[in-house]
Amino acid sequence: MDLFEYQARDLFEAHGVPVLKGAVATTADQARTAAASMGGKVVVKAQVKVGGRGKAGGVKLAENPDDAFAKAEAILGMDIKGHTVHKVMIAQAAPIESEYYLAILLDRANRSFLVMASVSGGMDIEEVAHKTPEKLAKVNIDPNVGISQATALDIVRKGGFPADVEAQVADVLVTLWKTFVSEDATLVEVNPLVKTSDGRIIALDGKVTLDDNAEFRHEVASSFS
Ligand code: GDP
Ligand code: MN
Repeated sequence: MDLFEYQARDLFEAHGVPVLKGAVATTADQARTAAASMGGKVVVKAQVKVGGRGKAGGVKLAENPDDAFAKAEAILGMDIKGHTVHKVMIAQAAPIESEYYLAILLDRANRSFLVMASVSGGMDIEEVAHKTPEKLAKVNIDPNVGISQATALDIVRKGGFPADVEAQVADVLVTLWKTFVSEDATLVEVNPLVKTSDGRIIALDGKVTLDDNAEFRHEVASSFS
């Protein structure tokens, strides 16, 4: 089962992955109220289970609560790649300096897990893999060993991350691994993971797929469906 972005954000928050405040809204009025409670600029994001929302006009910055109302009105009901938008997420806006990529997935063919890390995030990762494969680290993970701090740091360095963020990004990767394992996920992807202008590392967009066969083990997950 694929989660919506707002559910992935909640899951990340529960596990200690750094995220910004977010709230889901089904009407423009709710969007305005949520924006007012957050203060400052917000981002209004279409909640559809498909990527490329930004390019499709489903991610818009709002200057204030009234602007959030207007942006939500524009996005609600929109069709994105055949998916109608019934919900938006109102999220605190982040001053982005750099956009990175991190993912952990089940690699069925190799009977292991695969971590992908890249300093070139924000865009379509398949394009990065195709055009600049040297900027995408792919590392298999032995499920019995997992991802230690040292392994994480090694992967982050292979992904080309600058030295000033590598420790923070490695921490996030270890936390994502714990999230992946404890939630019985088959995919946890963060794109973009950002560095803000004040030097923080934050998961700005998350995609999570949970293993349906393990659903009985997770009360929270059951409430998503
Ligand atoms: P996707 O296109 O469906 O993957 O949606 P994302 O959540 O990844 O958003 C697409 C792009 O919108 C990101 O790569 C960012 O460049 C931009 N974006 C998203 N949230 C913010 C934000 O809080 N602040 C700013 N400045 N840009 C954002
Ligand atoms: Mn994204």
